[in-house]
Amino acid sequence: MENKRIRRIGLLTSGGDAPGMNAAIRSVVRTCIGNDITPIGVYRGYNGLLNNEVAELNARSVNGITSHGGTMLYTARCDEFKTEEGVKRAAQNCRYLGIEGLICIGGDGTFRGARDLAAQGIRTIGIPATIDNDIACTDYSIGFDTAANTAIDAIDKLADTMQSHERASIVEVMGRNAGHLALYVGLASGASATLIPEKPVNFESDVIEVIREGHYNGKRHSLIIVAEGVGRTNELAEMIKTQTGMETRVTIIGHIQRGGSPTARDRVMASRMGHFAVKKLIDGASSMVVCYRNSEIVATPIDEALQMKKDLDGYMYEVAKDIAI
Ligand code: ADP
Repeated sequence: MENKRIRRIGLLTSGGDAPGMNAAIRSVVRTCIGNDITPIGVYRGYNGLLNNEVAELNARSVNGITSHGGTMLYTARCDEFKTEEGVKRAAQNCRYLGIEGLICIGGDGTFRGARDLAAQGIRTIGIPATIDNDIACTDYSIGFDTAANTAIDAIDKLADTMQSHERASIVEVMGRNAGHLALYVGLASGASATLIPEKPVNFESDVIEVIREGHYNGKRHSLIIVAEGVGRTNELAEMIKTQTGMETRVTIIGHIQRGGSPTARDRVMASRMGHFAVKKLIDGASSMVVCYRNSEIVATPIDEALQMKKDLDGYMYEVAKDIAI
């Protein structure tokens, strides 16, 4: 069946923001313009579709945004969109606004919404963006590299002062229920131990003993990374203090990890994914997610993508452990 030429494509960012979303927006907008398609910016995620908060964009609307974190379209959560009534109303509004295809930049929740909208006849495609890098269908999600570098930069600064005082530090890294970001940051920052939800630890042997041994071997500072999904960071610090006698300080890096100017990797990945998403819509695709797999940009049906389970990089975990001595 030949596809009708698509003339108007909407785009939105939804769920948690991630650095690089703006680069994806810019790429989508400019690829649309280059293909004689009008890009329509939808503001505040799916809320914008329900409240008609939309604006036609042009090549100049996205000037200079690549280097900015956050999202120029704003992002929000929208509970009404999770109802059948809400999705139907959003689809009706898309038809009224002439939006034939919609690019949804966000995480798994955002893709569920895109799938529901596709079932109502609006062609949709998702672009993975979350610092947690926990989307199973793709090896990479926009924002991860920037967030990791932001965390590493903060930890390096912290290590300078902790080393001078010969203290132990325990640092909480974001990632929601997943440990991908914490593991990556732990390896890059030379942590003595990294605690992630996917790997149960024996606190005595994996943390306390490692700190004690490091101390006997002349380490002046022990750094423990704790993933947000493990939690109990303050309690763990108390345990380290009482069991090792070392002055232990807690740092929760928090939302700083979500901001900042995106790294080259995030800008390039976002630009490639945005371009690919528009091309797929032009080709007639719907209810798909753009994925990065085996160094290639591909598309996966959302239904399939949501069934997939993301494994932790077990080898990376081993490396981090082996060289933490
Ligand atoms: P993320 O996209 O980062 O995973 P959320 O899970 O908060 O973030 O989802 C973002 C938005 O996507 C929600 O506020 C809602 O509007 C929409 N959404 C989430 N889950 C569903 C669902 N099951 N059905 C329809 N829409 C959903």
